[in-house]
Amino acid sequence: MTETSQETKLTLFYISIAFTFSVLMRLIWVYHFADYEPFYFNGQFMINTNDGYIWAEGARDLLLGTTTNPNAKEYFDKFHQLYDLSPVTSAASQLTALFAKILPFSFESVIFYMPVFLSSLVVIPIILIARVMKNLEMGLIAALLASIAWSYYNRTMAGYYDTDMLNIVLPMFLLWSIIWAVETNRNIYLIITAIDILIYRWWYPQSYSLEFSFFGLILAYALIFDRKNLFNYKLLAIMMLAMMNGDGFLRLGLVVVVYILFRDKKYDKYVFYILGLAVAAFLVSGGLSPIWAQLKGYVFRDSVSATDKGLGLHFFTVMQTVREAGHIPFETFANRISGHTVTFLISLAGYLYLLYKHRIMLFSLPLVGLGFLAYVGGLRFTIYAVPVLAFGIAYLIIEIARIMPTAKLKYLSMIAFTLAIIFPNYKHIEAYNVPTVFNANEVQVLQDLGKKADREDYVISWWDYGYPIRYYADVKTLSDGGKHSGSVNFPVSFMLTHTQEEAAKMARLDVEYTEKTYAFRDTHKEEISDKNLTIFSNIEQMTKDYGFKNTNDFLATLKSDIKLPKKTRDIYFYLPFRMTSIYPTVTLFSNIDLMNGRQGRQPFFYVARSFKDLGSKIQLGANIFLDKRTLNLTIGNKTMPIRRFVKTQYTKDMKLQKNVQLVNFSSDISVIYMVNYNTMLLVDEKTYNSMYIQLMVLEDYDPKLFEPVILTPSAKVYKLKI
Ligand code: MN
Repeated sequence: MTETSQETKLTLFYISIAFTFSVLMRLIWVYHFADYEPFYFNGQFMINTNDGYIWAEGARDLLLGTTTNPNAKEYFDKFHQLYDLSPVTSAASQLTALFAKILPFSFESVIFYMPVFLSSLVVIPIILIARVMKNLEMGLIAALLASIAWSYYNRTMAGYYDTDMLNIVLPMFLLWSIIWAVETNRNIYLIITAIDILIYRWWYPQSYSLEFSFFGLILAYALIFDRKNLFNYKLLAIMMLAMMNGDGFLRLGLVVVVYILFRDKKYDKYVFYILGLAVAAFLVSGGLSPIWAQLKGYVFRDSVSATDKGLGLHFFTVMQTVREAGHIPFETFANRISGHTVTFLISLAGYLYLLYKHRIMLFSLPLVGLGFLAYVGGLRFTIYAVPVLAFGIAYLIIEIARIMPTAKLKYLSMIAFTLAIIFPNYKHIEAYNVPTVFNANEVQVLQDLGKKADREDYVISWWDYGYPIRYYADVKTLSDGGKHSGSVNFPVSFMLTHTQEEAAKMARLDVEYTEKTYAFRDTHKEEISDKNLTIFSNIEQMTKDYGFKNTNDFLATLKSDIKLPKKTRDIYFYLPFRMTSIYPTVTLFSNIDLMNGRQGRQPFFYVARSFKDLGSKIQLGANIFLDKRTLNLTIGNKTMPIRRFVKTQYTKDMKLQKNVQLVNFSSDISVIYMVNYNTMLLVDEKTYNSMYIQLMVLEDYDPKLFEPVILTPSAKVYKLKI
């Protein structure tokens, strides 16, 4: 047998070991929850990342969708409803639909297991990169560590169905093909690099930042070390064409044509012309525009509240509720990249040593750089540094093994050190028992709702539930994981936290304005992109249409009889019990004076999920007590009467019964004891009268405005009657 085929066999063997290992480690979660019914739906586990539901929606529509859209012209329009935000053109949805079509598994199984298998592919480029350094064992060790290292695991575990499943795999393949291209100068790596870029861009449009970094490094390398080598310019030219803005198939065609030219020596004299044309084509196609867009995004991200022209309304922004990304503790940062601080520090040293010994690895710097951005830009970036730093420690392990006196010691040390670096990551996986996004009962509610509601109807709920609602019920939503700016959240927050009458009117207004605005945007695309036309928030548009200059005056009219827009579709409210834990956050978005941005007084809202009966009183929290006889509430050193004591309880046939005991009308605070939920709510009068509490907690709906559709303990659905 030749040496090469021997090496190839070993490569394949190591890849299969690492791949199997990566898959098996991801089955620990599956094994752990195998008997836990609430995580199953339709006989399969549900996914555990909220954002995954958007790709699932797109894939579902690609597989079975037919349109109700009378204006469907383009191919993809035929698969879903106009303005339903289904991402049928996204790579994640298309790949999922393809797998679901050709594989003999259920759709739910496909989306649950896709991350397990796709993310494990990362071991292939890792081992292939090691092969160029003639160090396959280093590749194996790095692959074992990287495939399950803390943050990589968290973002690619079973059920973590999101673009992350290929977001490291694809740039690692790109790094591999660049390294092999530069190292071997073989033409085949020109086309592989270009196709890597095409696939990576298709999968993750934000990939340009890494592509640019790689391009810049190759350019620098060519100019400084290898100026006379024509191959480098061929590589740059074909990369530039692949990186252009525009249709993927067009770019593929260009790339193939150029590749055929580059293979033929007689066209070598044209390489610089082709490079020049490629750069020009890149610029003309708007290849730099994503960079500009991103820079602009960074500049505006700092502003606390978004202000638009016109009335200059001040909205609350989601950024304000997300914990400040700011400073990540070093230990967290290190753990997320390598599983342990010690492993991280040694990996870093090993990586520097590896860079010194194998200069070709300098091409991996963009990945490490992006990973280290986590220190300022947020934890999600750490995964980029995982595989590259894994090379660092794997290299040291191999170097130590090399100086061992006997073969036996050599292998023993290799195995011992490898197990040592894997162990903390294994412990993390074992303890990382994240729940599914929804439980089976909630999903059942949404499936039932989907059978009643039309695909053009709107289901209103807090944005956290937007994607799952759309996936399970196939309806439209006002807000979701990608659409939740302050101006979008304001009306939804307003509805949930204001009276039924205000909520009902705002619902009809916001839904009709949302649809109208989409249509208006469609018919005025050019004016909008030329900045001759500003689209205002729905609230601002309503304020103006109803003849006001002050939003507060307009909002006040919702308490009176106003003429509502023409009803074009039905509207439902999805009110899950789990929203009790985020109710205070929900209020923030509408508890603000839009005219000046001043936040209103925080409503009183307290949830006690465990409480102790102390005999004469009930303890609801560290410093909160309710006297059983007088029904006086003591918070800290303040004692006050309560307004009402309400007890809700389900009967045997699951009807909600409530007992309202009026205590003292001068008090603002009511206590709601939800017996079956083992929960006590302490709420002020405004919260008590809010649509959410009245409809979800008390089922006290106004029959002129709402009609109950599905009433279960975990979630309730009402249909709007106006
Ligand atoms: Mn739809």
